Amino acid sequence: MDFQKIIAVATKRGIFQPAFDAYGGLAGFLDYGPVGVRMRRRILEVWRKHYVINAGCLELDGALVGPEALFQASGHLGEFDDALVDCEECGKQFRADHLVDGGEEMSRADLAKAIANISCPNCSSTLSEMRAFNLMFATSVGAGKGTPGYLRPETAQSIFLAFPWLLRQNRGKLPFAGAQIGRSFRNEISPRQGPIRMREFTQMEVEHFFLPSDEPELPSELENTKITLLPAHGKENQTTVGEAFDSKIINSSLVATHLARAQNFLISIGVPNEKLRFRQHGSNEMAHYSSDCWDGEINTSLGWIEIVGVAHRGCYDLSAHGNASSKEFRVPIPGTEQETEVWKPDIGKLGKEFRGNAKLILEAIKDIELKPGITVNIDGESIGLDESYMALKMERKSQMVYPNVVEPSFGLDRILYCLLESSWNVEGEREWISLPQDTSPYDLLVAPLMTKDKLDEKAHEIMKSAIDVGVDAYYDEAGSIGRRYARADEIGIFYSMTIDHQTLEDGTVTLRERDSKNQSRVPIKDALDRVRR
Ligand code: AMP
Repeated sequence: MDFQKIIAVATKRGIFQPAFDAYGGLAGFLDYGPVGVRMRRRILEVWRKHYVINAGCLELDGALVGPEALFQASGHLGEFDDALVDCEECGKQFRADHLVDGGEEMSRADLAKAIANISCPNCSSTLSEMRAFNLMFATSVGAGKGTPGYLRPETAQSIFLAFPWLLRQNRGKLPFAGAQIGRSFRNEISPRQGPIRMREFTQMEVEHFFLPSDEPELPSELENTKITLLPAHGKENQTTVGEAFDSKIINSSLVATHLARAQNFLISIGVPNEKLRFRQHGSNEMAHYSSDCWDGEINTSLGWIEIVGVAHRGCYDLSAHGNASSKEFRVPIPGTEQETEVWKPDIGKLGKEFRGNAKLILEAIKDIELKPGITVNIDGESIGLDESYMALKMERKSQMVYPNVVEPSFGLDRILYCLLESSWNVEGEREWISLPQDTSPYDLLVAPLMTKDKLDEKAHEIMKSAIDVGVDAYYDEAGSIGRRYARADEIGIFYSMTIDHQTLEDGTVTLRERDSKNQSRVPIKDALDRVRR
């Protein structure tokens, strides 16, 4: 299966199609249809099972629009850009690193040199000088002039901002991880290739926080995970995660852990192991926030496609927000507690002077280091607190440090595309998607042999029992049974059940497995037990 075929089939089978096509479409946006939504939801269910239920990550659902100060601090407004060139003649715009082979791995200076003599791929005219184009989508929040806001370019920032909150939920203990599934937005210069390069896409991200002096070890049950690695300086090789960590190909035990976890998750949803590798970024390719990054890539008809990035972000984000905002994003270093003088609020005076607002002031200073001259913002009003609102008290305090973080960041849309491509089978006239049951859009097709002799009534009754026991079932009574099997195969329904005259006599049905096409005659209850996940 190649890209064009998948795109055509995706529209035909209700998986996805370009959004807004009634108005000529808008590049970089897709709508998912009835089958696509189910497949996405099931991939997400498996992801949640791996990361939220089994690994115990604390799940968050953050806001999509954020204030300017946040993205100023995170570096996205300053550095989250791609190199752009315009054609002075036809007006088309191009991502400079897509105009030359290996452009994505070049430094900006090398890229400028490499494209200096390239003319417009569309009309062969001269191209403009290369310039940086920021990928953030800007909007305005509130009436009138409003205040600037931006659609988030990654879900990660909400998890970083929620760090002090999540730390409290975790009773102040590290390590722990936050997880989030949600939409992200990037104003890509040349969105293309359907779900591969979009302007609005879904990410599943984990931020795993730990004390720099106490990085979690590689769990023994993951050590022997076999993995294909392509290091930045070295050849592709197959090894175990444990060996790669021991020989310092992977420098961090938590990065090693997350490479193994990412691989286990991807294989469980149906990604073929032999098409998967993890490629380390070279220094030119690395995002502004990361100190090491490995992309999980799948080999497709379009070449290697990145579907997950596992990045060591150090303390970049937490220290950026700690420095730019009034919140405390550091944690105490265990064993460093000492008696020190600290400023404490004078609750009596605050109460007398600010009455109802005193509570809000106390809440606002809860997570910040109190000192004379500090201002807090209460309902849009700035309130200054001088020495008279506080007193120096002796307290046992520790030295503070910003936690480090390792992040696996998955892209759902790309995963779905890659799964469609790798699981599509063609054998003569027969076409079928062979995903594991957990990521197939339905568990079961319920099909009466014909709509007379009360076979359809019986089929509806079985359909209801199936739904009652949690089986995701699809009812189809249109056309020959062969045609119905074919339609079910095309969207990857895992089992098919046929109800015929014998069903009315002895309560048995024919159960067919999608991949092997094996059929067996079994009592209804046994069939449903087999189909239940
Ligand atoms: P990044 O933050 O660039 O490392 O992206 C993390 C993951 O998000 C990638 O591995 C992709 O799966 C996905 N992703 C990033 N950009 C896009 C895009 N423009 N369209 C679709 N998926 C994307």
